[in-house]
Amino acid sequence: MTGGVPETRSGAGPPLLRLDMPVQFLKGVGPKRAESLARMKILTARDLLYHVPRRYDDASTITPVALAQVGMDVTVAGEVRSKGVVPTRSGLRIFQAVVRDDSGILTCAWPGQPWVGRDLRVGDRILVTGPVKFFHGRQIQPREHVLLSRGANGSPTQDQPVADPASSGTIFVVYSASEDLPQWFFRRVVARNLDWLVERVADEEFLSADVRKAMGLPSLRDALRILHAPPSMDRTQPALRRLAFDEFFLLQLMHARLRHRATQAQQGIAFVRTNTLVKTLHASLPFALTEAQARALREIYADMTSPRRMNRMLQGDVGSGKTLVALFAMALAAEAGHQAALMVPTSILADQHARSIRKLVRPASVEVEVLVGADLGRRRRSARARVASGTAQLVVGTHALIQEGVEFKSLGLVVVDEQHRFGVRQRMALAERNPRPDVLVMSATPIPRSLAMTLHGDMDMSILDELPPGRRPVASRVAGPDRRAAVYKEVARRLAQGRQAYLVYPLIEESEKSDFRAAEADFARLEKETFAGRRLALLHGRLPSDEKDRIMRRFQAGRIDLLVATTVVEVGIDVPNATVMVVENAERFGLSQLHQLRGRVGRGSEAGLFVMLAGGGAEAEERLQVLSETSDGFQIAVEDLRLRGQGDVFGAEQHGHGTDLRFADLFEHRDLVRPAQERARAVVDRDPDLARDQNALLRALLDRRYGGRAPLFGVG
Ligand code: ADP
Ligand code: MG
Repeated sequence: MTGGVPETRSGAGPPLLRLDMPVQFLKGVGPKRAESLARMKILTARDLLYHVPRRYDDASTITPVALAQVGMDVTVAGEVRSKGVVPTRSGLRIFQAVVRDDSGILTCAWPGQPWVGRDLRVGDRILVTGPVKFFHGRQIQPREHVLLSRGANGSPTQDQPVADPASSGTIFVVYSASEDLPQWFFRRVVARNLDWLVERVADEEFLSADVRKAMGLPSLRDALRILHAPPSMDRTQPALRRLAFDEFFLLQLMHARLRHRATQAQQGIAFVRTNTLVKTLHASLPFALTEAQARALREIYADMTSPRRMNRMLQGDVGSGKTLVALFAMALAAEAGHQAALMVPTSILADQHARSIRKLVRPASVEVEVLVGADLGRRRRSARARVASGTAQLVVGTHALIQEGVEFKSLGLVVVDEQHRFGVRQRMALAERNPRPDVLVMSATPIPRSLAMTLHGDMDMSILDELPPGRRPVASRVAGPDRRAAVYKEVARRLAQGRQAYLVYPLIEESEKSDFRAAEADFARLEKETFAGRRLALLHGRLPSDEKDRIMRRFQAGRIDLLVATTVVEVGIDVPNATVMVVENAERFGLSQLHQLRGRVGRGSEAGLFVMLAGGGAEAEERLQVLSETSDGFQIAVEDLRLRGQGDVFGAEQHGHGTDLRFADLFEHRDLVRPAQERARAVVDRDPDLARDQNALLRALLDRRYGGRAPLFGVG
């Protein structure tokens, strides 16, 4: 697939023109413009070539002004008929221009931007994009405007007249511009340099014509030419897909190298399956494994019994039975004569897991040890001694597991639960010893496959896409705030029957700027009035962790009826008697987060109830309806991604991983992720260091994109 063979160079400029030369030396740029470009992170000729238009307009995307209605977001093209700055009583100065096209006239208003008027003259043709609002009549409030051509009485200027998108067949490209770098500048520099730029970029083509054809992707040269100078609108999407694929592929190439380093290149443990423990466990299970659990276990066993090291992620919905899968993996490690450690984020979870593991392994003789930070003195010393001597075969713990002084006799398997709660280094700290233990990480909540592969492409993936049978879905309702009293009544009814409940808030304290209901502000009233006579507690992230622990333990023990909390309850707490949860300002949460919260109720035999109180009107309520329609966490996560976009949903995490996707959209281009990963892994499996000549180009591309940033991905 990698052909370093340059394609035809006819039409290439003089050899001095290189893609990595400073942008300053391009025709039409110069030192001052180069400074402005640098502020947009455009430093080289290549950066400019990859500064592709943000949007395209043509006759089909331009709305006749007469049809622009309040509430719409439109692009219109027309001639400036009059202009002026209008002061308002509040002191705000508004620049207004009236534009006319064949269908009529429309006012454009730029509140607080009187300076816009400086470059617009009567007679100019402009292109304007923005929302249509109502202020003494319809007006458009432009997010952006572009000068198409100067009117007849315009003074000479460097502005170039440009093709007018309103005339049929013309496509108008819109770049990201800045205050000192207007649209026409980009258009002009690109027009003067595009020919040689795309000829040069052909040298960086790494997909053979056959592969491109099979994948329906254009060449890099064609893609970039099309994006800057589209012959037709429908060519732009495939061209963008090509750039998206390249981003995914280079990222996966990086992941594949890390994966190789963490697995194949590592001397792992080849666990010997004796079945002494695994079989006993199977026999004593009160239920059958789901198909998905059995499949995940086959994948895990294959990794564990092979001499290469396992680096695998187990994804599954809330309640899909990840812990049980982990337990079987731990049992395999133990029966093969090694220890296994399960690391969880809190000591409550450690106790909870230890309890359920002890119950399940009771028929076999296995020593289970708990190691948490709160242990002191003698208790800690003896626990550590049992871990060090190997008496403790299965060890469940918190960060305390990676503290200094914790020695294992023979740690063979590390399982990390709720992996997102640990940093990469913490996750790996346990695994950095000799011989290298196998690693299994578990997610708290499902994420779309495209995202999982993008963030965690260095790992292999097992997916539990099935829930154990007999689960009753939690009844989920969206309600306006006006229904609060009725909702409280239902909560009170359940409390009276001896059940417990959660009230979840997005914030702790009420802030002046927002009217989001805050836990602290409501708590006193709830305690004294609404739920007088019930035992309430307030739980939030700012409490010291031992205080949080204490409250959660009391709730678990049934000594608190109603827990008023922020999202700290998200963590996998199991309180079967808690059957109802009410979320305030649910519109503030992502769908996946709500789904995760919902997983806290309905763990017992009684049907759970999940109520989302949502301000923010019909649109917000409609988004939340997804949760009452499906209980499939994977589907919900995909919907979240579609509705909010990758930046909003996963921005922070993505950033932390240094993925920086500019062109690739995890929803729009999700079908490209798997082929990108497969290709990248195939290349690295054959040539792990990309040392072969035929991979020199890939090595260079990878180095340019991620060079110097490899530590971000460092997994030891
Ligand atoms: P997760 O960690 O994936 O949210 P858990 O491992 O906590 O889910 O499992 C949730 C509950 O389902 C536990 O009580 C567990 O014992 C039970 N469980 C797991 N696997 C099965 C199965 N195959 N059939 C029935 N119940 C199961
Ligand atoms: Mg769990």
